[in-house]
Amino acid sequence: MLIDYHLHTARCGHARGTMEEYVNAARAKGIVEIGFADHIPMYWLPEEERDPELAMTMNELPEYVNEVEDLRERFKDITIWLGIEADYIPGEEEKLKQILFNYPFDYVLGSVHYIDGWGFDNPSQVKKYSYMDIEKLYYKYFALLKQAARSKLFDIMAHPDLIKKFGYVPRQNINNLYRETSSVFKNAGVKVELNTSGLRAPVGEIYPHYLFVQECINQGIKFTLGSDAHSPEDVGKDLDKAVQLAAPELISSFYNR
Ligand code: ZN
Ligand code: FE
Ligand code: FE
Ligand code: ZN
Repeated sequence: MLIDYHLHTARCGHARGTMEEYVNAARAKGIVEIGFADHIPMYWLPEEERDPELAMTMNELPEYVNEVEDLRERFKDITIWLGIEADYIPGEEEKLKQILFNYPFDYVLGSVHYIDGWGFDNPSQVKKYSYMDIEKLYYKYFALLKQAARSKLFDIMAHPDLIKKFGYVPRQNINNLYRETSSVFKNAGVKVELNTSGLRAPVGEIYPHYLFVQECINQGIKFTLGSDAHSPEDVGKDLDKAVQLAAPELISSFYNR
């Protein structure tokens, strides 16, 4: 039984298709449960610095919420959750908490997309990797991810090794990072997303790495599935492979929350 908890909408400025098309794509593929989780407005920046090609505006947020509620009314043969993909920016927790408090989100995906202001998953900023000590960069990324989990702002940690997106991976074994991070996740009570968009990125691998998945299983952590679709065609993409990476009984649905 496939579920997809990570769908974007055209409001973020870098996705396409109507929300209805995403719903119909899911129904056509036999996906019984979906959740929209579009990018939250860039709350940590002054309004004039927010990039309309990275996230919806604050005015669009209530429209987004209303449209999910409307689709839910219209399509009774599929469960539609209202989620949001929220960036973790250290020091800005209170601002995020305020937004999350104002809307009836069913769940919040926690994402680290920035390290000291660098949007490391943005193709236009990829050059910076070549000047970096990759192992140090990974330590920094995982430190932020742990801090995000401990903040208690998030239900699910999204694409928890996104830092590998462009194929920059340390030569060293980083199992210690996976182990520490999964233990922090367990203590924080968060779930972990198996995100198939990594297969469509230069790294060509699901997030997270299978050794990280193993550490999470050892900790007794539950998983969710996400295609991170930015177009209707990608809804549900490769989710069967993600299930294989863990095990069907470890995939959690909000039905049995
Ligand atoms: Zn996006
Ligand atoms: Fe993301
Ligand atoms: Fe996403
Ligand atoms: Zn994402």
